[in-house]
Amino acid sequence: MHRFRREDSLRRLADEDFDVLVIGGGITGAGVALDAASRGFKTALVEKGDFASGTSSKSSKMVHGGLRYLQQREFRLVYENLAERQRLLDNAPHLVAPLPFLIPLFGRDGVVSKTVARSYSTALWLYDLTGGIRIGSRHQRVSKQDALAHLPTLNTAHLVAGFLYFDARADDARLTLALARTAAIEHGAVVANYAPVTTLTTGPDGTTTGAIALADPSDPASELAIRARVVVNATGVWADDVRALDEGSHPHSIRPAKGVHVTVPADRLPCDIAAVIPVPKDRRSIFVVSWPDSDLVYLGTTDTDYTGPLDNPACEPEDVDYLLEAANNVTTSKLTRADVTGVWAGLRPLLAPSGKELSERTSDLSRRHTVRSSPHGVITVTGGKLTTYRKMAQDTVDAVVRHLGESSTARRCLTKDMHLIGYSRATRDPVAMAGPHARFVGRYGSESAAVLELARDRPELLEPIAEGLPYTGAEVLWAAREEMAQTLDDVLARRTRAGIQRARSAMHAAPSVARLLAPELGWDAARADEEAARFVASVEKDLLSAGLSLL
Ligand SMILES: Cc1cc2nc3c(=O)[nH]c(=O)nc-3n(C[C@H](O)[C@H](O)[C@H](O)COP(=O)(O)OP(=O)(O)OC[C@H]3O[C@@H](n4cnc5c(N)ncnc54)[C@H](O)[C@@H]3O)c2cc1C
Repeated sequence: MHRFRREDSLRRLADEDFDVLVIGGGITGAGVALDAASRGFKTALVEKGDFASGTSSKSSKMVHGGLRYLQQREFRLVYENLAERQRLLDNAPHLVAPLPFLIPLFGRDGVVSKTVARSYSTALWLYDLTGGIRIGSRHQRVSKQDALAHLPTLNTAHLVAGFLYFDARADDARLTLALARTAAIEHGAVVANYAPVTTLTTGPDGTTTGAIALADPSDPASELAIRARVVVNATGVWADDVRALDEGSHPHSIRPAKGVHVTVPADRLPCDIAAVIPVPKDRRSIFVVSWPDSDLVYLGTTDTDYTGPLDNPACEPEDVDYLLEAANNVTTSKLTRADVTGVWAGLRPLLAPSGKELSERTSDLSRRHTVRSSPHGVITVTGGKLTTYRKMAQDTVDAVVRHLGESSTARRCLTKDMHLIGYSRATRDPVAMAGPHARFVGRYGSESAAVLELARDRPELLEPIAEGLPYTGAEVLWAAREEMAQTLDDVLARRTRAGIQRARSAMHAAPSVARLLAPELGWDAARADEEAARFVASVEKDLLSAGLSLL
């Protein structure tokens, strides 16, 4: 039996009895599964699409305290976020890396407004004192030349100086996957993707006894009954739909907010760290962020109310223009839509406001989380951030312990100091990172030797699979064998990030990557062609709806 193979998981989901069933394989659900399994609960997790295919692959990829939340006077939130940031840097150094942020300061005649400089300085001191400094460096004021060294196309006419402060970044989809794999491989959770829950089951007294999921999402007859003492609803923006299965009516507790990012070549907007740039006529900022191991940077995010369908929200032309205009306003890059090589749009699962917050912009709504238990035994966790998934999971599993009437001492949370699968500190070692396969260490940690081993007798597997991107055939095979990739999209959009970095290269690579996957996933030639065609059609749709050309 393989602990992270879908067929094995489906069999066990049908055969075994569980303490906890987690619905949703985003960062929150994967975190809950790890927390519950490591406390000794027999745990199952089912995800309707691929792991992280919801919001958790579409974030800004920052593990941060959230400097702007200080402006909203959310001191406790920032403190908690920064504590979680530090835990992630310690527990997953192979996946989470420190990232310096530049705040350029603009002014007139070489002088920056004292009020602006003072307000940034105060905020950054507060950030450091709230826990930011634990990353090992405190913020600093830098010269105009230093700012230009990081973002050389900054418009020098008004640039006066800058501030540098320190946060962290992660590949959101890979972090989510690492949590699901740690839960399954190291703590015995039973985990399956492409298994949507359609019904919650109840006993004679009305309490929840588990759920029905589909073993094949395209076949309504492929029902799989999963027995569990408690069900955790960790379905992000879909949480109200699952609550409706339990409560009988839709609670409308989530207000989704759409956020879009675009990727552009670094030679058009060079940036070797992250930079915070103001958006003209909008009282908010966006980030310009270097993509590691590539000659690309991304820009984001927008933050707008969203009422459309929850699956695959579209990036629209005005979203792209908003981001490009913000960059063009402070640089000489003169970006146009023709520069964009990739796009992604995600939905923030924000808690719907009440009272005076009703009229607030989505960017002003709190990023806190809530845990709610229904009378039937369904525990729903909503809101929060990628950065705070561990605390969300802890609070949720504490509610599970209370619901089951178990001892909180015997079932105490263990994740604060828990290393994630592949844990390796080599990414912090400049000598190790100077080696020829350093990139693998930053993605696979201690498992990188096993990924490279796949290419021992097949050196062609170390060749890039898509033009302008570093991903190799060995990573494709690893995704199929060890990371439960089921489709071409799983490999090109989440196990690697080709689809959102260079969408057109990913489309060109689709047929050859499908052929590489075919023997691994038991596809015949027709199925491999179908997979490639489906992937190309979905990327084309994304590009066209964003107002971008296919060439
Ligand atoms: C644009 C944007 C930028 C962001 N940037 C950051 C950032 O830089 N840093 C940060 O900390 N946070 C950031 N966030 C927030 C963060 O990404 C989210 O809070 C987090 O990813 C939410 O994770 P989740 O697991 O709750 O939801 P999701 O990732 O959406 O997971 C829910 C899962 O449930 C599944 N599901 C739904 N219904 C069912 C069902 N019936 N059966 C089975 N499965 C089901 C879905 O398929 C989905 O995969 C950002 C968010 C957005 C949108």
